Amino acid sequence: MSAEEILNQLAKEVSACTKCALHESRKKSVPGDGPANAEIMFIGEGPGFHENEQGHPFVGASGKFLDQLLAQAGVTRADVFIANVVKCRPPGNRDPLPDELAVCDAYLEAQINAINPSIIVTLGRFSMNKFFPGAKISTVHGQMQRIGERFVIPMFHPAAALHQSALKPSILGDFAKLPDQLNEARTALGKPAIAVKRKIEEVPDERPKQLNLF
Ligand code: URA
Ligand code: SF4
Repeated sequence: MSAEEILNQLAKEVSACTKCALHESRKKSVPGDGPANAEIMFIGEGPGFHENEQGHPFVGASGKFLDQLLAQAGVTRADVFIANVVKCRPPGNRDPLPDELAVCDAYLEAQINAINPSIIVTLGRFSMNKFFPGAKISTVHGQMQRIGERFVIPMFHPAAALHQSALKPSILGDFAKLPDQLNEARTALGKPAIAVKRKIEEVPDERPKQLNLF
């Protein structure tokens, strides 16, 4: 089977999966989106309200911010694969539980093996913990580390940066480093480096504007 066929097969299995309690309240499962040959794979936490409605990852407010972050790295969604550590929405957006993470991990592992990305970017602490158990995100964010045949970069979750504006410069800076890190990874993995395309954009200030009547 080709990588694309494996991913399609996994998405089908996920949509019928009853391995953990999250299947009971899901509307749509969210296996992940992106090309089967993506060089960069992003791993978030789990579907939220809008993702559960639509069946696609990062389509809500944090998804909008993720699009701005991807632009900082000179890439678009069409270039990257985006998945989560759990494929069904935890009710009320609660944290995924250890047993849910443990059983759902087989799908994520199979996705990683099929895609074989040069770089995995973890978004938030749940996906970071899969690769760096016990690491502190405030210390290790943005630092690329080799794990076997690929590199992993932990980053803050876009939703965390949306809610804590102090994290915004860090996450923007980490995404801006991604093109150089990708070339570093390519070189280390024996793949040809390509010209870095840069499209650093000003991210608009999202704080509500003061209404000024005068
Ligand atoms: N947050 C996540 O971690 N994943 C999504 O798919 C959406 C929001
Ligand atoms: Fe299955 Fe994962 Fe959904 Fe749980 S979260 S039901 S393990 S696909």
